[in-house]
Amino acid sequence: QLRQRLEKELEDIRGAGTWKNERVIASRQGPHLRLAGGGAGILNFCANNYLGLSSHPEVIRASVEALEKFGAGLSSVRFICGTQSIHKDLEEKIACFHQREDAILYASCFDANAGIFEALLTPEDAVLSDELNHASIIDGIRLCKANKYRYKHMDMQDLEAKLQETQKHRLRLVATDGAFSMDGDIAPLREICQLAQKYHALVFIDECHATGFLGPNGRGTDELLGVMDKVTIINSTLGKALGGAAGGYTTGPKPLIDLLRQRSRPYLFSNSLPPAVVGCASKALDLLMESNAIAQSMAAKTQRFRSKMTAAGFTISGKDHPICPVMLGDARLAAVMAEDMLNRGIYVIGFSYPVVPKGKARIRVQISAVHSDEDIDRCVEAFTEVGRKHGALP
Ligand code: PLP
Repeated sequence: QLRQRLEKELEDIRGAGTWKNERVIASRQGPHLRLAGGGAGILNFCANNYLGLSSHPEVIRASVEALEKFGAGLSSVRFICGTQSIHKDLEEKIACFHQREDAILYASCFDANAGIFEALLTPEDAVLSDELNHASIIDGIRLCKANKYRYKHMDMQDLEAKLQETQKHRLRLVATDGAFSMDGDIAPLREICQLAQKYHALVFIDECHATGFLGPNGRGTDELLGVMDKVTIINSTLGKALGGAAGGYTTGPKPLIDLLRQRSRPYLFSNSLPPAVVGCASKALDLLMESNAIAQSMAAKTQRFRSKMTAAGFTISGKDHPICPVMLGDARLAAVMAEDMLNRGIYVIGFSYPVVPKGKARIRVQISAVHSDEDIDRCVEAFTEVGRKHGALP
């Protein structure tokens, strides 16, 4: 019975055209890939490897050293016997990087988002969440008992109305992605913080698509928009720009971090981050704190891609973000163009409903600091050829 039910469900997914295939990579993560079963020298434009640190030699060396010195793993949660000096050092480094009081590590940012709302908010409180927030924020909010309000995507009038409505609650927390991964748009944090101040609310941001590369020193959206002192809580990942291994964290006021260590369930009841993973992230942060050159080069590459694609006649959603969605509208067009791009050695992914709204299919291109100018130009040329072939360009 179970097998039948599962097969029917799988068939429904295929029938709806939303089946997700996984391509197998046979090399390290990087701007140039080898795919299993053939394709070498593929130009990769669909990883969150924004700074190219996933295969950086110093990051790999630091990881190997941590593995040798501290072992494969802790076989324990943090509070029983799973905290090593490297975990404490990394938490201190994260807090210093974000200029916050303290930080706490999780196995992933998904876990950090799952753990924060329930630990912080009670039925007396309210959480106001952007309707397009990441699935992990939505799930984290589901787990808490606070009163839940959803405001229209980046709509400050709607947020203000909801803030007025929530004045009856003890505490208000506005929760938003700093940068939204499907559209490459950046939350209007300055306005959000002004409203939060006016209505005595706290601000929480998920910086998975911002940490390490947005802002003059790569601190994130709050640095980019000049509100580092106004955002109270940051959750982010170690699995994208910061070395790309795995792991997540919350950084913010010390009493909040202390409380999370006592109450946050994904922290309390899940194994400690493995030393090799801690080593990667720690070295990635060292590199970023030594120099802002990588973050700056990321911005220049993004600008090159966005302006050349726009000049070629494409519409690129968002602004100044390395997530560059090439808007195509039609789901089939996005799928066949992505396939044809791969035939030309460029790996990009098409997104369509239900991942994005109906009629807003796109190919999402992600720029990395380690793409060369030639890589970017090759990608634009391939898009132009493929776009003409399939009628997306005149
Ligand atoms: N938040 C956002 C905005 C994300 O894009 C992701 C990952 O895709 C996560 C959270 C989860 O991060 P992690 O991979 O560390 O669990």
